[in-house]
Amino acid sequence: MDYKYKRVILKLSGEVLAGKKGFGVDDDVVADVAGYVKKLTDAGIQVGVVIGAGNFWRGRSNKRMERTTADYMGMMGTVMNSLAMADALKFLGVKNHMLSAIPMTPLAESYNREKAVQYIEAGDVVIFSAGTGSPFFSTDTTAALRAAEMDAELILLAKRIDGVYDSDPMLNPDAKKYDTLSYSEILNKKLGVMDFTAITLCMDNHIPIAVFDLNIPENIMKACEGQNVGTIVSG
Ligand code: UDP
Repeated sequence: MDYKYKRVILKLSGEVLAGKKGFGVDDDVVADVAGYVKKLTDAGIQVGVVIGAGNFWRGRSNKRMERTTADYMGMMGTVMNSLAMADALKFLGVKNHMLSAIPMTPLAESYNREKAVQYIEAGDVVIFSAGTGSPFFSTDTTAALRAAEMDAELILLAKRIDGVYDSDPMLNPDAKKYDTLSYSEILNKKLGVMDFTAITLCMDNHIPIAVFDLNIPENIMKACEGQNVGTIVSG
């Protein structure tokens, strides 16, 4: 099989990892995702993984706490999720390196671009934890930033919904799904695909985003083949 995209960044929100539990980490979901990542690496696709922390904590939702403190707590949440993913990948025999944007010896290597590129080029999975290491950013922005730094060809934006809609399909039965979107349409229509900082970074660096439903197992591989399995965001 010839894959259109040979180096990708998989972005998982914390919510995805929580599965039906809605909080914390669902072992079965983590094992499933690790299995998808293994399929990618078995196919020779180079993979970086960025995980959010909404299953534990989101900085912006905590109004009474100083924003920076709340954001650091969010970044710590990404570290917990990343540890779970690293462990699940190891269990499947997938060589991986968990890097942290905030120095955290001994549980993760500190993020260093050159080292990360070396690992990715060797075919090892790199898990980018602790977000960008800075408050006021998100893990969507982390995914866009690491994709740009790694020269990734695609961001795989895994969701629990099959693409981007013009309104919330849970609330509006007439909500319309987009097959394709441009970065500027997202910005102009204020669509909540990724936050605007992330979208702008993708736009500036010409990184396409495939938004897809993670619950359909074959979606990830199809997206790497270049098929549209949800919504494709590009220039
Ligand atoms: N966060 C941050 N800087 C970053 C990445 C994340 O401060 O570079 C914090 C922020 O508080 C955010 C939380 O970590 O709310 C969890 O990340 P995010 O909301 O992106 O998680 P997701 O929605 O993908 O689960």
